[in-house]
Amino acid sequence: MAKVALVTGGSRGIGEAISKALKAEGYEVAATYAGNDEKAAAFTEATGIKTYKWNVADYDASKAGLAQVEADLGPIDVVVANAGITRDAPFHKMSPEQWKEVIDTNLTGVFNTIHPIWPGMRERKFGRIIVISSINGQKGQFAQVNYAATKAGDLGIVKSLAQEGARAGITANAICPGYIATEMVMAVPEKVRESIIGQIPAGRLGEPEEIARCVTFLASDDAGFINGSTISANGAQFFV
Ligand code: NDP
Repeated sequence: MAKVALVTGGSRGIGEAISKALKAEGYEVAATYAGNDEKAAAFTEATGIKTYKWNVADYDASKAGLAQVEADLGPIDVVVANAGITRDAPFHKMSPEQWKEVIDTNLTGVFNTIHPIWPGMRERKFGRIIVISSINGQKGQFAQVNYAATKAGDLGIVKSLAQEGARAGITANAICPGYIATEMVMAVPEKVRESIIGQIPAGRLGEPEEIARCVTFLASDDAGFINGSTISANGAQFFV
């Protein structure tokens, strides 16, 4: 029987590429989103992947949504916590609301996505948890105290879950993408984009599919001994 994979924020951007790659590998895929109904409908139309709408920042909504996915497709074997937002501002201008919104979505949202399905993974003695962190969680970033805190926090989550889950056949790993050519990055003015690319030793942005291939590898049986790790996919930018 096909394994079941869930991708939060799986209907566009990096998540869309992840959902498609997992489907191509033979997984039954469920993709979640927050509110962009039009994009989610177009995604399902194009891929046949079912979408589910809930706010990852809301524990009860996450629990109910995850239960619905499992009722529809069966127990979730692979979970990709990908949904994330930015609310950038230099620290002296960052509002408590900007801090809280990012923490609630990017950090608590990861807890909310994994916690309800963790007991089932332990019982079945199998699980693959993959969290999409960021290069900015590794190195910090101007005007992203909130975002960098959440993405660094993701690394603490996977390292701890790896230790708790290892004997139960569960792995937990993170991927730290550098700048990826999603709508968000492509929408910035060309001059700004060029200056970003100038800071990447590889001389180009990453492609969403390059992150998706890291995910399919970490989800595979071949990656069973990789646990609590971080894959940095950033064109060597981190090492400048
Ligand atoms: P996008 O903004 O393109 O897509 C974000 C996705 O997450 C959308 O599907 C969105 O749903 C969903 N989402 C946002 N907030 C919530 C919420 N509260 N509840 C449920 N779903 C939510 O993001 P990217 O593809 O650019 O980024 C994906 C991940 O990769 C993020 O965690 C990001 O931090 C990380 N990342 C991205 C990089 C990049 O260069 N793009 C670099 C490093 C890390 P909807 O469509 O309904 O809005």
